[in-house]
Parts: sequence; structure tokens; C-alpha cells
Amino acid sequence: MDSKISPSGKIDVLGCEYTVEERQFEDETNGLCVADSCKIILKTSLCPDKKKQTFIHELLHAIENSNNAMDDLSEIQIEQLATGLYAFIKDNPEVIKWLKGTGAKR
Ligand SMILES: [Zn+2]
Repeated sequence: MDSKISPSGKIDVLGCEYTVEERQFEDETNGLCVADSCKIILKTSLCPDKKKQTFIHELLHAIENSNNAMDDLSEIQIEQLATGLYAFIKDNPEVIKWLKGTGAKR
């Protein structure tokens, strides 16, 4: 897996096409999810691990934005979900393979 580059380009979030970009934020912002323009923006200078975790965090915001019922997740809940999900994905590649291999008719 490429460790230095974010998935720049287009991603599909529940049928919505998002663009992933990098930008250098001057404050402590690590990433942004701009639902109106379907963009996820990651801070350029983050280390690869933190950048990937931030990507998951912003992805959860994108999923949240597409689902009104989830609209009241707090920033702390999103961060905890992102941390757990990223760790799970890293620690269980065989489960990811299994998930992709079955039922993924697109
Ligand atoms: Zn957030």
C-alpha cells in the first residue's frame, strides 16, 4: 500500500462522487469534508499514518452528510470511529479481502 500519497482523485461515497485533495492548513486543522462541493481535503504535511486516519475521519463525515439520520454524531464520536475503523482495517487485511470478495456486485 502506498504510504505517502492520499487517494487523490475521485472516490465514491454512497453514490456521491467526492474529490480528495491536499492542502497546507496554517492552523491545527488536519482535514475538511466540504459536503456542498463533495470534497475531502487533507493537510499536506501530516505523516502518512495520520493522513490515512484523517481520511477515514473525513470519509465518516461524508457518510454522515449523506444520511440525515446520522446528522448528530459528535466530533468526538467521529474521531473514535475513525481511530477504531482505521486500526481495524490495518490489523485485519484478510477481513477487508473477504468483504471485497463477497457480495460486492457493483
Ligand atoms: Zn471532524
